[in-house]
Amino acid sequence: MASDPFQCHVYLIVHGDQSVLIDPGSVLLFPTVLEKINKIIPFEQIRYFICQHQDPDITGILPQIDLMPHHPDAVVVSHWRINALLKHYALHMPLMCIEECNWKLNLGGRELRFIFTPYLHSPGAFCTFDPESGVLFSSDLFGGFTESPQLFAQDERIIEGIRVFHEHYMPSRDVLLNGLFKLETLPIQWIAPQHGSIIPAQMIPFVFNQLKDLDCGLYLITHSNSNIQRLVQLNNLLKRSLERMVMSRDFAELVNTLLQSAMPLFPVKTLRFYGLLRDQCIRFGPETHYRGTQITPPRALRHRLGTHLEQWKQGHDSPLLLLPAAELAGDYPDPEIVYELIIPLLSTGSTTVQALATLGLTAEATLDAEARHILEQLSIPLGIAVERELIFHSLDKEREKFYQISTRDQLTGLYTRFYMRDAVARLCELHDRGHQSGLAVAVFDIDHFKRINDTYGHQEGDAVLKRVARVLLENVRNEDIPVRMGGEEFVVFLIGADQPGLISITERILNNVRQLTFSGAMHQERVTISCGLAFRRQLEPLDQVTERADISLYAAKRQGRDRVQVGG
Ligand code: GH3
Ligand code: MG
Ligand code: MG
Repeated sequence: MASDPFQCHVYLIVHGDQSVLIDPGSVLLFPTVLEKINKIIPFEQIRYFICQHQDPDITGILPQIDLMPHHPDAVVVSHWRINALLKHYALHMPLMCIEECNWKLNLGGRELRFIFTPYLHSPGAFCTFDPESGVLFSSDLFGGFTESPQLFAQDERIIEGIRVFHEHYMPSRDVLLNGLFKLETLPIQWIAPQHGSIIPAQMIPFVFNQLKDLDCGLYLITHSNSNIQRLVQLNNLLKRSLERMVMSRDFAELVNTLLQSAMPLFPVKTLRFYGLLRDQCIRFGPETHYRGTQITPPRALRHRLGTHLEQWKQGHDSPLLLLPAAELAGDYPDPEIVYELIIPLLSTGSTTVQALATLGLTAEATLDAEARHILEQLSIPLGIAVERELIFHSLDKEREKFYQISTRDQLTGLYTRFYMRDAVARLCELHDRGHQSGLAVAVFDIDHFKRINDTYGHQEGDAVLKRVARVLLENVRNEDIPVRMGGEEFVVFLIGADQPGLISITERILNNVRQLTFSGAMHQERVTISCGLAFRRQLEPLDQVTERADISLYAAKRQGRDRVQVGG
């Protein structure tokens, strides 16, 4: 009927006095339906009234039919769960259960088959298939509304009407798939749903495939909003983000997916995270491609991190917080952003707010209940993702620290032997290729250091090592490599072709050490060092030039210490 906004259909199977009326309909529409039936067959020829579920737009007319002149053996055919409700109409007509007749109805020379497709508004819902015509009477499955009613689907656009209907009403994809898999095996020529357009054979595979991909259960997230398009988008935000979390370990990628999915829903421009790592605040933001940076949190967030969720909510229902962007100003100000939406993120299995997500909004967003619901749901996996990122961040820091330890001597700050090996090998390569003017090895050893230790103790000995190391650092250039070889022995790899110049650097070092003064017990003590210097010849192995420097050092010691001996 043209005036019916729900585009309901009642179907008649003409089969003599065993005719069938499928989903008889509502009181509102029945006069028109009856008029049409009477143009085809006398109403009394209808023996079976099949009710594929129990909604009033299908069964509402039954009490009136019951009182009208009708087939003497008329019977209402339905699933027992539906009959359990229909019995409250107190009809005189008997109710027949499809499971009792083995999911078949024999009309005499024609047999209808019933397929159980329970869904949201009826756990007893089913479809009816007529093998003779190839028509599947599908009731609400495949039903949908189109803006301008079309009795027969013209093209693939009809899926849009079906999609919203199913995404909204179907509780889950599993429930839908269960029905689709059963129906798919039938030789269907036409699908005749109770609402909307009849679907011809050539479009059936397309419709099945589209339906298998639907996001069902949108009514689960709706409170007040019936804008299904928006619910679909909200649901996508959750779905895409979860998919990304499962598929990729890349945090930046996850955040970008999230932003892309959120943009059609909120005027969001940026997304940042602030997380607690022990007592430090780590920020993940676009400015560092979502690599964590330790920061002092903005004042507005400082007291919120680390609190309990209940304390955070301060009696409000929703934990989401909308702050004027100015309250976070100082931490990446952006004139376009006027509000920051703050989502608290909990650490796994706790109620402590361990991190926050802040969404920079370019306009005041009206957050409806559905959007809040989705964002709250999203906060759980996001909390896990941020927690994971914080762990990665702390591992990176550990690694960096370890690298520092392995490259820098902790007492003196000079390079370690470990670092020296690769760095000096590179210097030698450059030297061999003639890119580098010259390379000298200066070996230093503190004179009578044992005595210092023995006289003043190890601690004073350490202090001397530090002072001597500082002299080395102060007298060499950036390109040179000063190394603590172990104990009180140092090596500096000096770059430069000017041999007298290099000799004078070592002499200056000796001179500066000689002038070191100490306080306390050591105030009268003078420390000296000796140096053996060797100039590397091109292609000379590192060991060999170092050995030559060592030999010079021993010579310097033999000759009375506190001097530089240049090797031959
Ligand atoms: P020489 O003039 O012949 O070099 O005499 P020396 O006493 O300096 O020679 P020796 O190599 O026998 O002594 C080095 C001492 O340095 C022995 C060791 O106890 C001390 N030493 C090695 N590493 C450290 C350190 O890290 N801290 C301190 N305080 N002493 C160290
Ligand atoms: Mg020594
Ligand atoms: Mg020594």
